[in-house]
Amino acid sequence: MLKKMPKVKIIGGGLAGCEASYQLAKRGFMVELYEMKPTKFSPAHSRNELAEIVCSNSFKSTLLSTASGALKAELEILDCLLLKIANTVSVKAGSALAVDRTLFGKAVEEELKKFDNIKIIRQEVEDIDFSQPTIIATGPLTSDKMATAISKIAKDKFSFYDASAPIVEAESINTDKTFTTSRYQKGDSDYINCPMDKDTYYSFVNELVNAKKATLHEFEKADIFEGCMPIEVMASRGVDTLRFGPLRPVGLLDNDGKRPFAVVQLRRENSAGDLYNLVGFQTNLTYGEQKRVFSMIPALENAEFVKYGVMHANTFINSPKLLDSNFNMKEHENIYFAGQITGVEGYVESIMSGLIAGVAMARKLNGKSKIQFNNLTIIGALCNYISTENENFQPMNANFGILEPLDEIIKDKQKRKEEYAKRAILNTKKLKEMYFDGI
Ligand SMILES: Cc1cc2nc3c(=O)[nH]c(=O)nc-3n(C[C@H](O)[C@H](O)[C@H](O)COP(=O)(O)OP(=O)(O)OC[C@H]3O[C@@H](n4cnc5c(N)ncnc54)[C@H](O)[C@@H]3O)c2cc1C
Repeated sequence: MLKKMPKVKIIGGGLAGCEASYQLAKRGFMVELYEMKPTKFSPAHSRNELAEIVCSNSFKSTLLSTASGALKAELEILDCLLLKIANTVSVKAGSALAVDRTLFGKAVEEELKKFDNIKIIRQEVEDIDFSQPTIIATGPLTSDKMATAISKIAKDKFSFYDASAPIVEAESINTDKTFTTSRYQKGDSDYINCPMDKDTYYSFVNELVNAKKATLHEFEKADIFEGCMPIEVMASRGVDTLRFGPLRPVGLLDNDGKRPFAVVQLRRENSAGDLYNLVGFQTNLTYGEQKRVFSMIPALENAEFVKYGVMHANTFINSPKLLDSNFNMKEHENIYFAGQITGVEGYVESIMSGLIAGVAMARKLNGKSKIQFNNLTIIGALCNYISTENENFQPMNANFGILEPLDEIIKDKQKRKEEYAKRAILNTKKLKEMYFDGI
């Protein structure tokens, strides 16, 4: 028998919205799930089903030695519907989980339709009703009207284009080849400098301009190129362009007091100093090409890329200012956000935030406390990441760099990562007992 419970409105029947609907419905709440398709499609969506996979069909690795594998293991413990479905419609992809996108969307919709307490309404939502418990999961390509409504509460920043540079793990940088003096020896030496000699620079530029690019949608071309130039486009303007741009060596002296031919600078990405981004390397190269070409940079030959550069339309709010770690607005207690719009990056990460927002909403409506996350799980660390003060807030995907360091030092990288995953799984089980069961 269903309890008489408040109605929850979920806006957006994508990955996050569908997972949030399931989490609330299975806990007995009435859910109204609004999806604007097929009346209206974002420029990247084209199918009628819910939970559409817009681009690659890969949900990334399942290996526990990877952060995306660990995240999947955590989500499995918390009864994640979309991940369960992904496993049933998977296609062969080595150690990655890849799905048949048509079967996936259909299966998600069928599962949600089994619930009497989920009403799927095919209609665009144009405004936010602050009096009703609501989860906004309209994605990185939120409709214009909803984007206008959100921008009224989004404070100073509401990004439309994500033009971000790759991020690497600090410990994977070969510091034997770097130096850290600041330009003109002014200020602190916050950057790691990767010097290039003439030959290395010219072969790097050659590979860069000839590397394979990801396809841009028509709607993305104009705005992206106006606002922010990809490094490969800049390089194609002339072999020396980068040496007078982001790779300029002027004012930088290496450990022998000499000025290198060119310098790639790495800038701290987080206060812990375990992640660095490649300065000026916004790029539209495919992920595989980024790994290949950027590994030519001295000191980055074995770099672990925790995030590749992306350039696509990507609406995300300034979550650290607006949301708490439960995806709940600080200033509007009925309103939650979920999915890529919150600044988590990727399919599985978006599903994760839908799961947490759904459970957090259920807890709130049942008068229970907020979920307290630590950084021992990927889920917790991502929830803390999106809600922690950060001047340069950019979307983040699952990675081990955001976790609390292990108590013991494990030199073997593979073993260390497995240890992170083992600890994460153990702590997810604790989270489940404390916050997810019995509500
Ligand atoms: C072009 C592009 C390519 C990407 N490629 C990848 C990739 O290859 N791998 C990866 O891991 N991640 C990728 N991402 C990032 C992200 O993982 C996906 O966008 C993911 O689908 C986000 O899930 P979501 O639930 O937040 O949003 P979505 O899955 O986009 O769901 C949002 C839903 O809300 C609906 N909607 C929007 N506005 C309204 C409204 N006002 N009223 C009602 N419904 C509305 C939309 O129609 C959509 O169905 C990509 C993003 C973009 C933009």
